[in-house]
Amino acid sequence: MKIYHCLAEDGRRYYGQLHGEDRGLLEVWEGDIFTTWRPTDAVVKIARLLSPLPLPPNIFALGLSYRKHAEETGIEAAPEPIVFMKASTSVIGPEEAILLPDAGPTKVDYEGELAVVIGRRGKNIPLAEAMDYVLGYTCANDVSARDWQFERQQGQWVRGKSFDSFCPLGPCLTTRDELPHPNRLAIRTVLNDQVVQDASTSGMIHDIASIVSNLSKSLTLLPGTVILTGTPEGVGFTRTPPLFLREGDRIAVMIEGIGVLANPVRAERMEA
Ligand code: ZN
Repeated sequence: MKIYHCLAEDGRRYYGQLHGEDRGLLEVWEGDIFTTWRPTDAVVKIARLLSPLPLPPNIFALGLSYRKHAEETGIEAAPEPIVFMKASTSVIGPEEAILLPDAGPTKVDYEGELAVVIGRRGKNIPLAEAMDYVLGYTCANDVSARDWQFERQQGQWVRGKSFDSFCPLGPCLTTRDELPHPNRLAIRTVLNDQVVQDASTSGMIHDIASIVSNLSKSLTLLPGTVILTGTPEGVGFTRTPPLFLREGDRIAVMIEGIGVLANPVRAERMEA
């Protein structure tokens, strides 16, 4: 199923699924999406959609996990996934604004990515069991300030990728049973009217099961952990001339079987 999280017109937040073809109504489910939950009779009017995971316990992300993206950056892909983290406070939902901070950075880039959502606590997960720990998938935009990522911070990527609003997630969480082939999904990023990334998750060097199993060898995966599985080719900083996000842009990440995660780009007006 496709699990949506919304702010309803009554001012409360709900999880559930869309009511038929009507994208303005949510059939409310109750309980916990990670353990037991069930449908109710309630249907509410959606004021706006929220991130399906508003505050993940951890957000891990993979660098250079698509062969063609590694090639375009000129950085050699490592035999094991390169893992970094994004702050949980960087998460926003569909249609929320990606904010360009007043004080810089100036080179803010997009990265459309398939995000894996962990459903069960796990450590040292065998490869053959890894998919049992996956609750489902959502679209992510691993927004990255390239000046902070590469030119400041001595090569540490975390701050450049953790500005508030730099991790849009959504529009829904598609459960694993509905996407039996996560490594064969079309993934596309559109900036305004321009298709800037157009690829398939089959271009990943490591498949989803390997990523989950590998990560769990060194740390505990908790329910709600989000793993951004890396971006395909076509990011802005590798282009000639480079292409960075500007105020007034609209950026959308689309993944087959999940949907469209679109966000406007605005300048952050800092209060003096
Ligand atoms: Zn990324």
